[in-house]
Amino acid sequence: MSDIPDSPSTTALRRRLAELRGADVAPRPLDARALAALAANPGCRRRALLDGAGVDKGALAKKLGSPAAFGQSQFAFARGHAFEARVKGDGGAELMRLVHARTGTAGTPAPEPGEVAVPDLTASGPDGRAERTRLALERATAEGGWALLNHPMVRLEVAGSPVHLEPDAVAVHPDGRWTVVEIKSFPILDGAADPTKVGAAARQAAVYALALQALGGRVDERMLLVCPKDFSNLPTAEAVDLRRQLATTRRQLARLTRLEEIAAALPEGVTFDPARPADELAEAVRRLPAAYAPQCLSTCELAFHCRERARAAGSVEVLGREARGELGGLTTVEAVLAAARGEAASLSGGDGTDPSDDPPDDPAAAALRRAARLRAEALAGRS
Ligand code: SF4
Repeated sequence: MSDIPDSPSTTALRRRLAELRGADVAPRPLDARALAALAANPGCRRRALLDGAGVDKGALAKKLGSPAAFGQSQFAFARGHAFEARVKGDGGAELMRLVHARTGTAGTPAPEPGEVAVPDLTASGPDGRAERTRLALERATAEGGWALLNHPMVRLEVAGSPVHLEPDAVAVHPDGRWTVVEIKSFPILDGAADPTKVGAAARQAAVYALALQALGGRVDERMLLVCPKDFSNLPTAEAVDLRRQLATTRRQLARLTRLEEIAAALPEGVTFDPARPADELAEAVRRLPAAYAPQCLSTCELAFHCRERARAAGSVEVLGREARGELGGLTTVEAVLAAARGEAASLSGGDGTDPSDDPPDDPAAAALRRAARLRAEALAGRS
């Protein structure tokens, strides 16, 4: 978020985010992976602000004593780079063959060598690169041929601020369609890949597709996922339908609370600078409302810290979103157990409110009482 256009309000926001990040701390740019994770948990103000301010959440988690083993190993990183270079080698000939084979319009001939335009997208700064990308897409679409944009840069407005994103590639078809290409190093074995990894790649591609849609282009609702074939280093590809991810990500990003609002709720002087003492940082993080869910463990560097806090508070969030939803107004494990025992106070959620204010026939409490009775009967029968 380092390239917020200058206007009085954005200048003020930029200054405030820099204060929160810490003096002289360079911002960590948001990427599509982070945005996809943010969109998957739009209720988490903690992540929204820390990501928006460019705080190094990994360093913060380490300082808080809860580092998360997160991200790719150096080996996986190097292997991914080598595979991508191979896929894009020879002017992208093999990649465009895959684009044609999996996402080309029926009857359109495959591009011959030398028929694919590969525009130069170099420019200084992300804004310059985004503008070069926009012009290259416009030109390639107008010319009506094949084009391959290698590491283009696109912009997406998120929570009131622009974010720059860099897909692996975007292919332009002769019919004017733009297809997002993602190159991953996990294998496609016998035509199938790990669904969790495919899902993560699709969520990431959906973020790029939304940014391309903002440019007014005809964006393919399928992405091309390129992976190694079986256990070889040969590329293979599948078209992945993005419609569901597009709808979800669009909806979730629109729900993200504006950063100004979250920052305004913090007192002056609060900072997330990892150089500050751990107890000061813990207090600063505590002030940001979180929405922990077990999914955080695979998507957020602060997951161990947030899980520890949620457990310490006896929060039912640690049981997962489904259980959390089923339990309705029962927000703590203590309240759930009390409800199962049929204690009226259980419905207060353990927050000290008057239980007589709660509905007498709370369906979650009734279901818990029934479950507890059935369990007791089953145990009595067994003994
Ligand atoms: S780990 Fe914490 S900060 Fe990260 S998304 Fe989950 S609740 Fe939010």
